[in-house]
Amino acid sequence: MLAASEVILTTNPCQTCGACCANFRVSFYWGEADDAPGGIVPAQLTEKISPQLRCMKGTASKPVRCVALEGEVGKRVSCSIYPQRPSPCREFDVLEADGSPNPRCAALRAQLLPS
Ligand code: SF4
Ligand code: SF4
Repeated sequence: MLAASEVILTTNPCQTCGACCANFRVSFYWGEADDAPGGIVPAQLTEKISPQLRCMKGTASKPVRCVALEGEVGKRVSCSIYPQRPSPCREFDVLEADGSPNPRCAALRAQLLPS
């Protein structure tokens, strides 16, 4: 999800998208938050959803919009905690690990940017 605003990646479609940050519940193991040893995700931007899980604030109910998302979805966006984003954000990308297109990304983009 999203490229950091300070990183110049002119061909990265995430910088003009942000759909995944405004559509999915972004949940992850509580220990990823920075109030746990070794955690990096700012805990104040998260909320507890179970004893083991937290999510990014703003993504647990509709309308979904992650609290860390800056800008306008579909125009220009960035992640304010890019170096500290949780694992789901690191794992969800335009491409799958094998280089093939991520169908969930493609579906969201088709919804957001209909041709
Ligand atoms: S939906 Fe796809 S293109 Fe859009 S921000 Fe997420 S990973 Fe990037
Ligand atoms: S933490 Fe950043 S990359 Fe992850 S959903 Fe929020 S804005 Fe998007």
